[in-house]
Amino acid sequence: MGTPLSPRDVQVEEVLDRLYEEYPDSTISLRYSNRLELLIAVILSAQCTDERVNTVCADLFETYRTPEEYANAPQEELAEAISSITYYNNKAKYIRSACADIAEKHDGEVPDTMSELTDLAGVGRKTANVVLQHGHDIVEGIVVDTHVQRISRRLGITEEERPGTIERDLLGIVPEEHWQQFTHLFIDHGRATCTAINPDCADCVLADICPSEKGDSTVDLASGDTW
Ligand code: SF4
Repeated sequence: MGTPLSPRDVQVEEVLDRLYEEYPDSTISLRYSNRLELLIAVILSAQCTDERVNTVCADLFETYRTPEEYANAPQEELAEAISSITYYNNKAKYIRSACADIAEKHDGEVPDTMSELTDLAGVGRKTANVVLQHGHDIVEGIVVDTHVQRISRRLGITEEERPGTIERDLLGIVPEEHWQQFTHLFIDHGRATCTAINPDCADCVLADICPSEKGDSTVDLASGDTW
């Protein structure tokens, strides 16, 4: 078990320092070439791996290029095109509806405000934050995905449990200039080392400051369960 630094903002600063060094090229792993493709890819990525989304989108983005083309695609056709993705039927509905709104209400442009984005079907705060950050260069929040949720709790950075309250908590202790990279660094660490099941604490650069470290800690603070 490591000893977390106190107060929490000092722990955050040290964690970020080390992760920046460990993952110097950390960035979004979805592939896209414009805002519409980014929005579609992020909607598809909910509870699905970025790798699979990238594979599916390589063909999808060749077939459909405009909001109107997605909106006018028959439901069954679009669902079939993304059928290897989790919840493909619902996601096809979301994409058709969101793209109809983009075409009719936003002159075919992906909106650039949180409220307009979250009014679109299938777009919650997490998706909207990604689109704002990477599509519009507007950083007004921290994207809290499953890795950020898990690792922030393991490191004692937050005790909140739900993405919305975790984000509000993090916004108060993570310096604003790191809001975007915070997510990418935690995702990289979650994939490489601090995996959901059986994290590799023995090879973790954060082990000495992590209260969940498995050496002699019995509890995974992410879940509250014993290791
Ligand atoms: S891999 Fe282990 S030591 Fe590292 S952050 Fe995760 S739980 Fe803590």
